[in-house]
Amino acid sequence: MRIPVPLVLLLLVPAAQLAPQTHAPTQQAGSKAEADAVHRSAIVIDTHADTPQRFLDENFDLGDPLNGGNVNLDSIHKGNLGAEFFSVWVEPSLYKGHYARRTLELIDSVKQQVARHPDQMMLAASPEDIERAHREHKLATLMGIEGGHSIEDSIALLRQYYALGVRYMTLTWSNSNGWADSSGDINDPSVTHTKEGLTEFGKDVVYEMNRLGMMVDISHVSDRTFYRTLIITRAPVIASHSGARALCDAPRNMTDDMLRAVANSGGPDSKGGVVQVNFYSAFVSQAYRDAQKAMQPEVDKAVQELKDKAKAEGREVNYEEISKVERQYADRIPRPPLSMLIDQIDHIAKVAGVDHVGIGSDFDGVDGQLPAGIDSVADLPKITEALMARGYSAEDCRKILGGNLLRVFSEVEAVSRQLQAESRPRITDKQPFAKQ
Ligand SMILES: [Zn+2]
Repeated sequence: MRIPVPLVLLLLVPAAQLAPQTHAPTQQAGSKAEADAVHRSAIVIDTHADTPQRFLDENFDLGDPLNGGNVNLDSIHKGNLGAEFFSVWVEPSLYKGHYARRTLELIDSVKQQVARHPDQMMLAASPEDIERAHREHKLATLMGIEGGHSIEDSIALLRQYYALGVRYMTLTWSNSNGWADSSGDINDPSVTHTKEGLTEFGKDVVYEMNRLGMMVDISHVSDRTFYRTLIITRAPVIASHSGARALCDAPRNMTDDMLRAVANSGGPDSKGGVVQVNFYSAFVSQAYRDAQKAMQPEVDKAVQELKDKAKAEGREVNYEEISKVERQYADRIPRPPLSMLIDQIDHIAKVAGVDHVGIGSDFDGVDGQLPAGIDSVADLPKITEALMARGYSAEDCRKILGGNLLRVFSEVEAVSRQLQAESRPRITDKQPFAKQ
């Protein structure tokens, strides 16, 4: 919705904040029982959890206890999670030369979970599927690919991932991939970047995603890639797991201008995209981020010692050992309060509009570095309670919890039908698959 900013502010700012000298809200908003009822009535959609790596590498089953993680069936029930987009993320250096294989294994791992728990999970590939799963009290299980390197420069692979059920793709992860640039390495002179944010092939990828009905996810991309994508996309975009840079200055977070641009993305008749807020402490809180930065030399030293020790023993240090050390240090930094996560949602609602914000937790992807009180999916009702305490209506909460994402997903499908009906030749038909 494109309502003028002043009106948005009037609608969103709790009356007490807008005019503290006049009337406080008459109704005592935010009672726990009321918030709980609102949360239970919502279709709650989280657009980013990294659990598939646990499925594959740790043989983790969603029926297991959390055991250090953030997502399992028990917590899904407690938190009334209606839909999860499981992230299909391929570590780019570890799986070099085997991106497609790892991608397929991760996709399979998600499907195996659905096959093991048919009474509690349902594979979903559309907004209607999400609604059906909600009616049947099952978790709508979806997938998003995190990082365009998974398609190995092949539009054919992109199409096949769609056929397997993938419904969004983050154009890049922290690595630039030759056709789109990442915020993670944009300042690294040793990495080759595109001239305009997307190459011609990159534009074809976005077009083909629009045509297929796969949501274009701009989390992780460089600012230039972000704007280039927004110029060419025919459908509204999502940020599956990003925050506001005004509150926490991380390159992965978005400026106010970018937040507004997402809200205005898509064609002239579009209702606009959605920014799904990341829960990672170092994207939520500037204080946390600063403390993390200050500690970095100490962490680097400890990791180096670990490597030296392993070398003396005649072996290579592995990924788990390093992350264990890193986590020990991270655990020393006080967790930001939940109110700071709510500040993120509130800021985006005020800047972009309440129709353009949602949740993309990054559960199981941030080593437990989450705001205080948010330890698993079971804690999601606390977010609804906190939003209502700030004056958000039941309707607004339901939009934030999942309604906005459902709207965007439906519109992406409508644009796809439109593009498929158009008689103009597909750009991608003219492109060799391996074009850079
Ligand atoms: Zn990510």
